[in-house]
Amino acid sequence: VSREFHAADSIIRVGGQEIGGNKIHVMAGPCAVESRAQILETAHAVREAGATFLRGGAFKPRTSPYSFQGLEEEGLRYLAEARDETGLLVITEVIDAQDVSLVAHYADVLQIGARNMQNFVLLKEVAKCGKPVLLKRGPSATLEEWMMAAEYIMDGGNYQVMFCERGIRTFESYTRNTLDLSMVPALHALSHLPVIVDPSHGTGKWQLVHPMAKAALAAGADGLIVEVHPHPEKAVSDGKQSLTPEKFEIMMADLARLSTAL
Ligand code: PEP
Ligand code: MN
Repeated sequence: VSREFHAADSIIRVGGQEIGGNKIHVMAGPCAVESRAQILETAHAVREAGATFLRGGAFKPRTSPYSFQGLEEEGLRYLAEARDETGLLVITEVIDAQDVSLVAHYADVLQIGARNMQNFVLLKEVAKCGKPVLLKRGPSATLEEWMMAAEYIMDGGNYQVMFCERGIRTFESYTRNTLDLSMVPALHALSHLPVIVDPSHGTGKWQLVHPMAKAALAAGADGLIVEVHPHPEKAVSDGKQSLTPEKFEIMMADLARLSTAL
């Protein structure tokens, strides 16, 4: 993980795309895959706006056991169908070591959620899956703990790892989490791996997503992961932090201007 062992920036190559190079990648889609129609509609909209990856959870790690837990394999099939229709690459979360090969069969990138950052059994399993991994920061993990979690995946033989800053728990309760953008330059100094920022979970409020996405790029992020839902008010999860496709398009146009300015 450390720059001491690999001085040059690592580039993650997946489906003809390169993460960690010059291009900023935007991964967009709903928090959860809710239906075939919802995921296909969202996929077309985010692709039109310039996203390169489709996100969407088929296995949902919910705070409450009574909340929607995801469509599981049916959801993975809808994601794969959306990839076939749009050419977007698919990133989705795996929450259980037993499901790694199933998720890797459908997805292009496996996401390790914040709650599982130190699930070492799961990390060792994704180390063997042959697909790139996006490792979210635990809500109360230090930079060192986060880098050590990435080390588990690399030590297991998978060098295709990206960090994802998604906010940490602080005393502030106005926002859902406190998005710690200082981690972007800190990680770039200490590690050769790409850094992605999630301004959706990082703030919990759609109004803050666009400004914090700009701030993330200014801080040097290699990409963003953003929640987009065709009808956020009806979303089964994270509607309050989800952009409509229209708002996402406006943000993408603004980010394109910013990244040429940078
Ligand atoms: C998600 O990406 O939908 C998610 C559950 O994120 P996190 O693990 O960061 O809470
Ligand atoms: Mn979510």
